[in-house]
Amino acid sequence: MTKSMRILAAGVLAAMAAGAQAQAFPTKPVTLVVPFAAGGPSDTVARQLAQAMAKPLGGTVVVENLPGAGGNVGVAKVAKSAPDGYNIVLHHIGMSTSPALYRKMSYNPLTDLEYIGQIVDVPMTLVGNNNFPPNTYPELINYLRANRDKVNLANAGLGAASHLCGLLFMSTIQIDLQTIPYKGTAPAMTDLQGGQVQLLCDQTTQTTQLIETKRVKAYGTTTRVRASSLPNLATLDEQGLKGFDLAIWHGLYAPKGTPKPVVDKLVSSLQAALKDPAFVSAMDKLGAIIVPPAKATPEGLRSHLAAEIAKWDPIIKKAGQYAD
Ligand code: ASP
Repeated sequence: MTKSMRILAAGVLAAMAAGAQAQAFPTKPVTLVVPFAAGGPSDTVARQLAQAMAKPLGGTVVVENLPGAGGNVGVAKVAKSAPDGYNIVLHHIGMSTSPALYRKMSYNPLTDLEYIGQIVDVPMTLVGNNNFPPNTYPELINYLRANRDKVNLANAGLGAASHLCGLLFMSTIQIDLQTIPYKGTAPAMTDLQGGQVQLLCDQTTQTTQLIETKRVKAYGTTTRVRASSLPNLATLDEQGLKGFDLAIWHGLYAPKGTPKPVVDKLVSSLQAALKDPAFVSAMDKLGAIIVPPAKATPEGLRSHLAAEIAKWDPIIKKAGQYAD
């Protein structure tokens, strides 16, 4: 065999090995990391997605909760894990706000990850403890003006959706409240119901049932249009906060360097899951909007993430909120 034939043969063998790896993938359970506490909004979407992806993937998907630093702990763990497709992470809008919020980041969202695709957009709601005096949005604003020192606003850590929503809300109404961070809005919601904190901005994937069964008070939805799961709850925009419009986008990521055939299989499994009737119905009941097919792609996620980083960077820098 000549030298060039040997090089050609080695190339063919390498390509065959990569193909075989993708064909075989997965040969063991895929771990889907949720970078927030169990039982909360990210966990709810992830568990439904894990079920819906399992069949098209031809294997099992196991959810692991790795909360901390507004989602950064779980994402960093996946970014640094073996790039073989067995560790993937679901994260939301926080992926685009963290680079501006954190002085030290142990991963770079634009260089250390492979993009699988976007998943859902989820509206938020502003909710309060049932014994909290204000019953309506106008009453809430009057109460906050007179009693700002008595109100604690919970969130799921710097960079969490609840944190971002709280920041936007406080800057729009120009009232600063004491904020209390948790490892997810599941524990924050437990404390809200127990009366340790009074207010929380949280996604409809957690609040829909609690609002319907009157276990919390609801003051409004954060998107321009009402959430499909809560048609009777007015938006904050409708109630006077003109222009307030916050929906929480979600994406699925793998470590940088994951072989393309493996990423392709994860992408096609995600796309199949987003059409799975059980997943579609579960998301609809929770107010989550499944993204159009063009967004459930690596390029759909990568370009959205890059645009969101560019959008949030100046807003956050102006607000002057940082963590080390
Ligand atoms: N998504 C977070 C959670 O699941 C909450 C948040 O970002 O506010 O707890």
